[in-house]
Formats: sequence, structure tokens, C-alpha cells
Amino acid sequence: MMQIYRPLNFIGFVYREIRQGLTDIENMFELLDKDAEIKDKPDAKPLEVSGPVLKFNDVKFHYDPDREILKGVSFEVPAGKTIAVVGPSGAGKSTISRLIYRFYDAIEGSVEIDGQDVRDVTQKSLRASVGMVPQDTVLFNDTIAYNIRYGRPEATDEEVREAAKLAQISDFIDGLPQGFDTPVGERGLKLSGGEKQRVAIARTILKSPPILILDEATSALDTQTEREIQSALDHVSQNRTTLVIAHRLSTVINADEIIVLRAGEIAERGNHEALLALDGLYAQMWNRQREVDEAGEKLRLARETD
Ligand code: ATP
Repeated sequence: MMQIYRPLNFIGFVYREIRQGLTDIENMFELLDKDAEIKDKPDAKPLEVSGPVLKFNDVKFHYDPDREILKGVSFEVPAGKTIAVVGPSGAGKSTISRLIYRFYDAIEGSVEIDGQDVRDVTQKSLRASVGMVPQDTVLFNDTIAYNIRYGRPEATDEEVREAAKLAQISDFIDGLPQGFDTPVGERGLKLSGGEKQRVAIARTILKSPPILILDEATSALDTQTEREIQSALDHVSQNRTTLVIAHRLSTVINADEIIVLRAGEIAERGNHEALLALDGLYAQMWNRQREVDEAGEKLRLARETD
């Protein structure tokens, strides 16, 4: 009986925590850590970050043994640089970010930060050094200030304001009836996808991690919101080792290197101009996106003149 009860009890616990307004991906993992498969090694050491350089060494990974997702991926993000990963849907882009944060471990090969295999360091120290702006941020049922301050609980009101400003969300907050004290989340004000992502960016600006992973929202954003988010991201990624998982090509033009992933393999790599000149998969994706953007713009103009 006890054997059945225990897992049920755990599920109940997670469910209650979720109902109580949980939160974001990091917190979710603290919760799941209570029974997680990924555990610290007994001799795990804290991650020591100086540069930091992020490296994938011939990484192979699958969720199910009969379907390989990453088929030997190698790349390096030099200290302070921005590398973008693009590619068709299902190519394995977000999987790359999950391996850095150790939601999963590589099956073969390794992920290293400053020469340390992420499997050899404590998860606590890893997650303190890596900031993740996830695709979809779930907010706490609390005030907007609380949601931003979560990045660094000891931050002052002034620092919270400054982070919101840099994340291009302070004008929106100032327009709310209770400003930073406005309750948000399931039981408060519902924010749009773009607003939530900017709250996540403000939180990450406060946390100020040396390594940043930005998993762009896949949902379509209007041009103005996209521009605001882009400018917030440009700010937060300055001089940080940054990996952008990009679902829209417009956001990667300025990356130091773009990695084009196709079916779990690196098909092309280079900067924007070099990849366009290559006239391969990236150029195809770029042209297709331009057509879609132009069609969208025409539709919008036609609606306006109606
Ligand atoms: P998109 O641009 O659509 O977000 P992606 O390139 O980021 O795609 P991933 O999310 O890395 O793709 O997923 C790669 C493949 O792995 C997909 O086919 C997906 O269905 C599969 N996959 C992702 N997560 C899991 C999981 N937890 N269990 C099993 N398969 C998974």
C-alpha cells in the first residue's frame, strides 16, 4: 500500500504546488529534483566560472532509444559572444538548451563550461551561473515586483525598477492601476506572451548570470513587441556568453555565429552574410520568412484601408 501511496503523494504535492501558482522552469526543477533522475555525483564540485566558454563535444542524445535527436553536435560559444541555433521545427534546438541546464544528460559526448563537464558539477552552482529565458514563462500568483525580484531576492526596489526599464516593460507596468504592486498570474492580471517574456528578461537582468540561454517564444508577436523584446535581449546578452535558440531568423542577424541544425545535425554554420552567400538551407529559410512577413504586411495594409 505504501508503495502506491508514495508516488501518488508526490504527484499530489507537485500538483498542489502548481496550483499554488508555480512559477518558472527553474523552480519547477527544484520541485522535481525531489525525485529527479539527474542527481549530483557524490563528489560533485561547484562550477567555477571565469570566461566562460560553453562547449558541446560530439553530443548525442535521444529521449527514446529508437529515435536519435542529436546525432553528434559540436560547437563552442566563446566567452562573451552570442551564438544562435536555428533550424526547422523538431530539429533539436530546444533540446540543446535542456542539456546545458541538465534537464537531461548527453548520452554520448559532453557539454562543458570552462572545461568542466556539466555532469561533474553541482546542479545548484550550474543553475546559479546559467540564466534561462524560457519560451513560456509561468508567473507566480503574486505582484509583478515579486515576479521580477525572484531573479535576486535581495534586490532593492530601485534595482527592480531599473531591470524592468532595461527589459522594456516599465512603461507597461507604470500604466497599471497598482504599478509594480499589481497582482499577476492565474489569480491576477493575465499578461500577454510578449509581456511575460519581458518579465522573464527583467528577472534574468537582475540575476545577471555569466551564461545566458534564450529560448525564443515560438508564438507570433507583433512587430512592435518583437522589436521591444529584441532590444531587451540585446541589452541582457551584451558581454555575456549567450546561446539563442531562435525560432525567428530576424533575431539572429547580429549573432557572432549561426548554427543551422537539421534533423539533429549541424548542416551549416557561419554569420548571416556567409550563410546567405552559401545559398543553402539558411538562405531558403530566410527567403521563406521574408515572403511570410511581406504577405503579413500586405494583409495588414489591406485591412487598414478597408
Ligand atoms: P521547435 O522549433 O518546433 O521548438 P526544436 O528544434 O526546438 O523544435 P526540440 O524541442 O529540441 O525541437 O525537439 C526535437 C525532437 O524531440 C522533436 O521531434 C520532439 O518531438 C522530440 N521531443 C522533445 N521533447 C521530448 C520529450 N520530452 N520526449 C520525447 N520526445 C521529445
